[in-house]
Parts: sequence; structure tokens; C-alpha cells
Amino acid sequence: NKLKVHFFKHALLVQPTSPPGVGVAPTAGTQQPQAAVVTQPPPVPVSVMYLTEIPGLVNCPHCHHTVTTKVTYVPGTAAWCTCVLLALMGLICGFCLIPFAIRGLQDAHHSCPQCRNVLHIYRR
Ligand SMILES: [Zn+2]
Repeated sequence: NKLKVHFFKHALLVQPTSPPGVGVAPTAGTQQPQAAVVTQPPPVPVSVMYLTEIPGLVNCPHCHHTVTTKVTYVPGTAAWCTCVLLALMGLICGFCLIPFAIRGLQDAHHSCPQCRNVLHIYRR
């Protein structure tokens, strides 16, 4: 019995240092997350009025396809206001252009990838 315990301890010590591919198959664990994704319910299209700054799944009123909207970010009123504000604060040397690089200050123009029609403009 004592010999058996000693062997078990030895096996535990050896296991982490054993080369990959020997013993337990390492690919068995990696395949499980893929199976979990399949069980997710299919996404339901929302109304174009509920679109935010990220692309959303909608029913296009023009071509009646269920599409994920293509979003183009255009500097809107919020970006211009921040630009003027930064310019007034004296940060004229290129800093006032920062609002045009910040996505959070830009309007999101949602268009249909199928018929290219503009479906909704999300303004800040
Ligand atoms: Zn369309």
C-alpha cells in the first residue's frame, strides 16, 4: 500500500512536465466552447428607431431584408460644440480636432448593406 501511494505522488509530480500530446488529449477541452455558441437563440431584428451607435439587426423598410446595418461615423453637433469649446479654452494647436476622432461624439449613420439606403441617423 505504501508503495502505491509513493507511485501516485510520483505520477502527480511527473504529469505537468510531460510533453504535450502524451497522455490526455489536449484538444478535447478546446472543442467545448464552440458547441455552446450553437445553443444561443437567433438574434431578433429590432426597429430602426432603437438603433444606437453600434450596428444592429433590423428589417430594412426599403428592400425588406433582415440586415445588420452598416454604420458610418460622421462628426455631429456634439463634435462641433466640443471643438469650439476647446478652441475657446486656447487649445487651438490641433487639440480642437480631437472631437472628430472620438467616436462617442460622432453621429452614427445606419445604412442598409443590401440597398444602400440610409435607415436611421443616431444623433448625440
Ligand atoms: Zn435595404
